Amino acid sequence: MDETAPGGVYLCQVNENLSCGACCGLYNIPDLSREKLSRMLSERTEAFVKVPREIDAILEFGNNLLSAENKKRPFPEFYHCPYIGLIGKGRTRPGCLLHPESDGNNGVDYRGLGYYGSMTCNIYFCHSHTELSENYKRIIRGSSRDWYSYGLIITETALINAFLSETENRIQRKTDEKDIYRNPGFTCAVREFINLKLTWPFRPSSVTPANYFFKDKLYERKTVDYAGINSESVSLRHDAIFREFGSCFKSDEEVRKAGMIIELLWEKLQKGADNYEYC
Ligand code: SF4
Ligand code: SF4
Repeated sequence: MDETAPGGVYLCQVNENLSCGACCGLYNIPDLSREKLSRMLSERTEAFVKVPREIDAILEFGNNLLSAENKKRPFPEFYHCPYIGLIGKGRTRPGCLLHPESDGNNGVDYRGLGYYGSMTCNIYFCHSHTELSENYKRIIRGSSRDWYSYGLIITETALINAFLSETENRIQRKTDEKDIYRNPGFTCAVREFINLKLTWPFRPSSVTPANYFFKDKLYERKTVDYAGINSESVSLRHDAIFREFGSCFKSDEEVRKAGMIIELLWEKLQKGADNYEYC
């Protein structure tokens, strides 16, 4: 149990390859492909190495980046901080370039120069810390393979809760972190679920896979429009998941296919949870 994080599980910096920067606006950029985002962070980090640690130089760096980068953000009223870069020994995960422990800062906290100010950046914890149960947080953390997909899913509390609570209905017990350590089949199925966030075939290309998770309701997910769809094809169990994936369906057949994708995952999780032959 991590006493420093609300809810007992720290979600922001997990290990050398896993971290999230969603509240810094990491995903609030027009082209959210893994390649584009990785390249952007890498180039930004390289450039910041050469910036003298002086107030004017740091501010100029941030301002230049913001004016050079495409401002057509999916959530125009949300920020994208120019100081989110790559951190760690091999620069393998996103993190704050102004943090006192980041390269070149010699223990000085420069976060006060960012848009939110040092205090906010230091104490903010998103609602995933408190709205996801400890076991769900551990399951998502433990199953995630890379920062890119982890950061896209970890703020999706409604989606994770809908998916894992129905998983528990199917296996007729609480899920447990041990499910992912004991059984690769279970882990793979959770990973497939995590990856659906990006690959979900029923989200129109105009809808970003990024999540605006603040509570001001500025960019709430729309309810799924089932007009023209036979109500028998719609299952309430699936509806919350469809909505959180940003789905838009053109036919009964598409709704059925979407339901089958989710059902198949639940079957895999059930088999994985019941089958410890991999132990
Ligand atoms: S969005 Fe949540 S998990 Fe991600 S860095 Fe911010 S506080 Fe941490
Ligand atoms: S200054 Fe604050 S918002 Fe910007 S990257 Fe650092 S922690 Fe995130």
